[in-house]
Amino acid sequence: MPESRTYGRRRRALPATTSATEKAGFEVGKREAVTGRVVSTGAGGPTQMAGWDAMDKTASASGSDMYLKVTEEATVIKIIGDGPFDVYNSHWIEEIEDGSKSVRCWGTPDCPLCVVGDKAKRFSACFDVISLEDPDSPVLKIWEAGIKIARQLKDIATDGKRGPLNRGDLYFTIKKEQKKKSVEYTLERVKERDLYEEYDVEPLSDEALAAFLAEAHQWGDVVKEKLDEDAMEEVVDLVMES
Ligand SMILES: [Zn+2]
Repeated sequence: MPESRTYGRRRRALPATTSATEKAGFEVGKREAVTGRVVSTGAGGPTQMAGWDAMDKTASASGSDMYLKVTEEATVIKIIGDGPFDVYNSHWIEEIEDGSKSVRCWGTPDCPLCVVGDKAKRFSACFDVISLEDPDSPVLKIWEAGIKIARQLKDIATDGKRGPLNRGDLYFTIKKEQKKKSVEYTLERVKERDLYEEYDVEPLSDEALAAFLAEAHQWGDVVKEKLDEDAMEEVVDLVMES
């Protein structure tokens, strides 16, 4: 266990930030996913399993704790960075039973799934955020925002008066609501000075913020790796067989 460290005037114990540890968990998750396959299939050596490695990179076992879970209760977040660090579309492949059904579109005309006519329907803009869901244990998460919320964020980010997203005194809340046919997300800006009164949340100290900032992603880091040609071929086969 890492030592619990205390930052700033509020003497809030800051847990080990999750980015690094969660990244490690992500790696472990991948290994486990691969190992799991070898054990469950029994026959054949590891070399015959190699073709699945790339596919397992997107397996659902890959550390879902890394992601912000948006619930029906408003969660207070602080956005790190003034924009998303990764933006992509993904194909949703119902036929994938082992691993994530969401496959990152290559984003180029030669994407094998686009070529066979599948549409990459899901948009993700990925932000680093500090989740204050538990105000005593702020934690760094990846927030995958859909197109509607991403557009709202862009409007704020590019508005000299309301932005930028990572302005010191700016927090947000995000919640979702299940409608008949879809899930609707609601984003709200919250000023630091209103945090406590409205949400019982103490603002982060500068020291805590700086510690999280040091763990954040850089533009160009990818949340979900592209599948390589071989793995894509497997997925295309699944789609064509059905
Ligand atoms: Zn595609």
